[in-house]
Amino acid sequence: KRRGRNMVHCYHPEDRESADLRASISWASRFRQALEEDRIFLLFQPVMHIASGSVAYYEALVRLRLPDLGVVSPAAFIPALEESGDMPLLDHWVISRCIELLRQYPSLQQVAINLSAQAFRDEKLVTLVKQLLLQHQVEPQRIIFELTESASMSNVIATQQMIEQLQKIGCSFSLDDFGTGFSTFSYLKQFPAQSVKVDGSFITQVDVSREDQAVVRAITQVASALGKQTVAEYVEEKRVFDMLPKLGIDYAQGYFVGRPIAIEEILQTDEQNCCARL
Ligand code: C2E
Ligand code: MG
Ligand code: MG
Ligand code: MG
Repeated sequence: KRRGRNMVHCYHPEDRESADLRASISWASRFRQALEEDRIFLLFQPVMHIASGSVAYYEALVRLRLPDLGVVSPAAFIPALEESGDMPLLDHWVISRCIELLRQYPSLQQVAINLSAQAFRDEKLVTLVKQLLLQHQVEPQRIIFELTESASMSNVIATQQMIEQLQKIGCSFSLDDFGTGFSTFSYLKQFPAQSVKVDGSFITQVDVSREDQAVVRAITQVASALGKQTVAEYVEEKRVFDMLPKLGIDYAQGYFVGRPIAIEEILQTDEQNCCARL
């Protein structure tokens, strides 16, 4: 219509000018600018080992600090980066930053890093991880990589190869948002992950929903038979938290356990815990 009335114009993929695409391009360039201006940072959310009541590790969650919008969550810009092909930039930045922080803070025992759906096509990633671990003298055992079902199902062979290479050096893997995609059980069987994160959609109402209880129990039974540990995400209420051991869940993450916080806050909390114990 913009080209004038009474005209026929053939569709070419390259002239896709949807609002979506324009929005993606603008998020992708905002992201690249934020990266250049050092406006990207990580928050860390605790994951609790339920039986011992102690924090087992922290999940790194990325944020942008934008001059006009303030702090922006990845849900806003990750779809745009997936479309623009900029996800490796994000993955590489997060991996580098986490390894630096692991070196800087020995009390940060273990960190979980989310990998994008594209990570498995990224031939530089394994080399980058190995090189940074060596350079900073960080033990690979301190890293858990989280990947989602959709990420790994898109290329089964490449994903398995990448997992094997990183596991060989000592990193662990966790299946994120488990139970929401498709071919769930074959995926669980095929991927040599150490743990499974049960998707939050099965957890938030699990104290009142018999259906959710049945699904969570089925997942923990299969996972434990396959030798994998289970994590519940989106644990927001005490009622939910109290129910998790009965459902066979080993670890809990969510606002009830702790919100994502800055690295400095973790260390303060550690000190306070230390002082409380003394
Ligand atoms: P995820 O890996 O499933 O991360 C959990 C998300 O749920 C986080 O949102 C976290 O802040 C939020 N959350 C945790 N506990 C609760 C709770 O009790 N209630 C509610 N309502 N929300 C909770 P966030 O940080 O916005 O991340 C969203 C997704 O973006 C992540 O989902 C992950 O898939 C992706 N992501 C985050 N950081 C990175 C990153 O560094 N790299 C990559 N590739 N993806 C990332
Ligand atoms: Mg995750
Ligand atoms: Mg998750
Ligand atoms: Mg989730």
